[in-house]
Amino acid sequence: MGRPSPVKAGPLPVGYLSAVSVPAAPQLSVGTSCQRVAGRDDTYRFREFQLIPDTENDAEPITYIVQCAVCEETGEPNKDQAAAHAWATGRLKANPEHYTYREFITRPCRFEPGAWQ
Ligand SMILES: [Zn+2]
Repeated sequence: MGRPSPVKAGPLPVGYLSAVSVPAAPQLSVGTSCQRVAGRDDTYRFREFQLIPDTENDAEPITYIVQCAVCEETGEPNKDQAAAHAWATGRLKANPEHYTYREFITRPCRFEPGAWQ
């Protein structure tokens, strides 16, 4: 009933992070969408969506990339974190003064729809 509301954001449910096996996910969000009820121009129904890590079989893999913070050289994306870190080890051996690195973790996410309200 009424007009559609803007997307709402909120905290994750308690215990969510411990329920997944991927590395700790940062702040994820909750959104709301609405749909006009068929045949009614003045009536909407709502459902909330929650952005969660995508652990489906067809999800993109989690990938790790390490970048040297001194020279900005970057290793290849790798599904294996240890392999991504090995690139940094090799970089340090080749450049003994390059001590600082950045790790980029790409984690697939998807919106999970809730029930229509
Ligand atoms: Zn470097």
